[in-house]
Amino acid sequence: MAIRNIVKDGDPILRKKSRIVTDFDSKLSRILDDMLETMKRADGVGLAAPQIGFLRRFAICELKNNELLEIVNPEILEKSGEQIGPEGCLSCPKRSEDVLRPKRIKLKYQDRYGNEHIRELEDFDAVVVSHETDHLDGILFYDKAVTK
Ligand SMILES: [Zn+2]
Repeated sequence: MAIRNIVKDGDPILRKKSRIVTDFDSKLSRILDDMLETMKRADGVGLAAPQIGFLRRFAICELKNNELLEIVNPEILEKSGEQIGPEGCLSCPKRSEDVLRPKRIKLKYQDRYGNEHIRELEDFDAVVVSHETDHLDGILFYDKAVTK
């Protein structure tokens, strides 16, 4: 595994839309392993592929029970409720904003082998997954900041 450089805010790659993943190969697994090491080193709870320079639709999230969730081609099928809480981002050091997110989501995604899953997530887990999925569409958390 290797530590990858995290792209910082201001780099145009963070504003681009990522493309769908079609090859569930050893390269994808290697990048996911590198992302985990990179995220841990940076003390984060989520990292999306564009943040390390790949415009592909995948990300990793550390859920509240410390479970690692790898999401490839994630799609939020349903959202309900609202929650507002502070967020930060490994690409935007030192910046924190309150962001409006759904309280619950129903997520469809593939794992690193291409198997499809559907899962319901709430509270913190819904925030992390929404934040990382937004990265795949070039959206940064402060775009959704709310003023108190
Ligand atoms: Zn982020």
